This record gives sequence, C-alpha cells and structure tokens, in this order.
Amino acid sequence: MELTIADHNGKTNVHWRDKLTPEQYHVTREHGTERAFSHPLNLEKRAGTYYCVCCGAALFTSHAKFDSGSGWPSFFEPISDEAVKEVDDRSHFMRRTEILCANCDAHLGHVVPAGPAPTGLRYCTNGLALDFKPEE
Ligand SMILES: [Zn+2]
Repeated sequence: MELTIADHNGKTNVHWRDKLTPEQYHVTREHGTERAFSHPLNLEKRAGTYYCVCCGAALFTSHAKFDSGSGWPSFFEPISDEAVKEVDDRSHFMRRTEILCANCDAHLGHVVPAGPAPTGLRYCTNGLALDFKPEE
C-alpha cells in the first residue's frame, strides 16, 4: 500500500497524482530526471514566463533562458530569489544543489556553477516541471 504524505501546504501525493501526468509526477514529486533533449521546452525561444507545473507559481522568465547544450531548459537566474528553493543533495554519490519550487516543493532540477554572466549559474530544469506561457 502506498503511503499518503502531505506537504506543508497540506497537498498529498494522491492530490498530485490526480493533477499531473505520470511523467510530470515522477519528475516533480519523485525527484526524477527527464531524458536530455526529450522536452520541447529545451528549444523554446519565445518571450514569456515559466510556471510550476504543480502549483502555477512563476519560476523563470525567457529573459534568463539560454541554450546550455545540455538538453535541459537552462536559466541563469530564477524570476525572484523567493521563487526557487535550493537544497543540498547528496544522492547518487554526488554533491549537488537541488532546486525546488519554493511554494509547493516540486523538484525542478539542479543549479550548477556553469552558467553565463551575470550570475555564472545554470539553473538546469526539467521541462516536465514547467508550464510555459508565451507573451501575448
Ligand atoms: Zn510549485
């Protein structure tokens, strides 16, 4: 039997399973990683805003997006310091910094010190964790 675990907003894994596709659920709630170059948002170049696929919080804008060549949508900064939460991640025998939606704890990806100016950081995300809305 599956355990029902509620997050700090009182949302349970059952709630998220109803709302998301199995692929979105795996990435955002089970800390999964989509295949590189598998998601169309990797190549998205239009102006617009990237939202959390779980809760709809605004996370990134097209202004900070760049083509990292990694195969995952990459940004040099989040939309604000409050939007994205950073957590030490020591899984898979690596030391990395995981990035989460600060509002609902959705797993987004990792931040690595390999981005362009002005931050030098690369917020490497899964397209499955994001919902893109182009500008009108
Ligand atoms: Zn969220």
